[in-house]
Amino acid sequence: GETIGILGGGQLGRMIAMAAAQLGYRCHVYAPEAESVAAEVCSAFTQAEYDDAEALARFAADCAVVTYEFENVPVAPLAALAATPLLPGARALEVAQDRLSEKTFVSELGGRPAPFMAVDGKADLLAAVDAIGAPGILKTRRDGYDGKGQWRISSREEAEALDLPDGTPLIYEGFVTFSAEFSVILCRAPDGDVRFWDSAENVHESGILARSTIPASAIVSAEVAAARALARQVADALGYVGVLTLEFFATDEGPVFNEMAPRVHNSGHWTIEGAITSQFENHVRAICGLPLGDTRLAASGVVMDNLIGDAAHDWPAILSDPANHLHLYGKAAARPGRKMGHVTRLLLA
Ligand code: ATP
Ligand code: MG
Ligand code: MG
Repeated sequence: GETIGILGGGQLGRMIAMAAAQLGYRCHVYAPEAESVAAEVCSAFTQAEYDDAEALARFAADCAVVTYEFENVPVAPLAALAATPLLPGARALEVAQDRLSEKTFVSELGGRPAPFMAVDGKADLLAAVDAIGAPGILKTRRDGYDGKGQWRISSREEAEALDLPDGTPLIYEGFVTFSAEFSVILCRAPDGDVRFWDSAENVHESGILARSTIPASAIVSAEVAAARALARQVADALGYVGVLTLEFFATDEGPVFNEMAPRVHNSGHWTIEGAITSQFENHVRAICGLPLGDTRLAASGVVMDNLIGDAAHDWPAILSDPANHLHLYGKAAARPGRKMGHVTRLLLA
């Protein structure tokens, strides 16, 4: 089979590589970090940084197509991929890797994010707090994940006292009073065919996804159609190929867009056993030009719990329950807040 290049060496890349292997593809991972859990299941190219255009070109020469599992890859050097297609494209990466551009892009398509303003210094922050109000959240525009690079601001005084990071582009957004959080995950094929998985209701703890539950509550279910319509517009506008995720807050005024991820997503891990075709397999099918698989549920309900940090787990007990499916990412060191694995529990009718 052909070789798929993956930018990023984390567990998402590992799970893409495992799905690709089933379909007879090889994967080749581009990951500067020494500890790449994706590289344990496929070949790796680890001698370079993401902004090394010459290294990217050498990497891509061995690949039929290049995809990414990590959106904080500098866009300009990707031009060096030259003849090798990058799917999803560079535009999706560019839009989604900056909170200001993603919120602006989605607003222009008719989506509704929390009120937001760019912040490049203390004066901007105070102006934003005055205009939008408090409480709110100040976030780095780039590179944030798992709630890193965020500051809750509950008053103007707190904003005045805050030490801002030097020269880091930021964004201030109003705090959303939500009933629940949910995600829309879709896969779009090159011919424009779009499939949606059931939307999971997501619970975060300390900014990190803790649990995804399917089916979602009635509050969420009532907002899924509007959220899907927006997600489809985003995918179509970007000429998107592959799996795309949008996160939403369910509110009394309808779905509020939080952020997008131009990739497979933690809130879709349940699809490995809980859907007829997983997000990982459909991502591979889409970028390889194969027909998309059925996204319907394979169980009457699914609960996915992340295994975070170094909490001790009774593996035999988890594995003794036939409803459970255990996934461990093979990370050497557990650190607080680090995603070490997940457990998917299928509820069979
Ligand atoms: P991810 O790992 O999903 O990429 P992230 O670091 O990009 O996370 P966000 O999704 O922006 O962070 O925020 C993490 C969580 O913090 C959200 O899922 C939500 O629970 C809470 N949160 C973020 N922004 C807001 C907001 N404006 N109002 C209320 N809660 C918020
Ligand atoms: Mg994010
Ligand atoms: Mg998020």
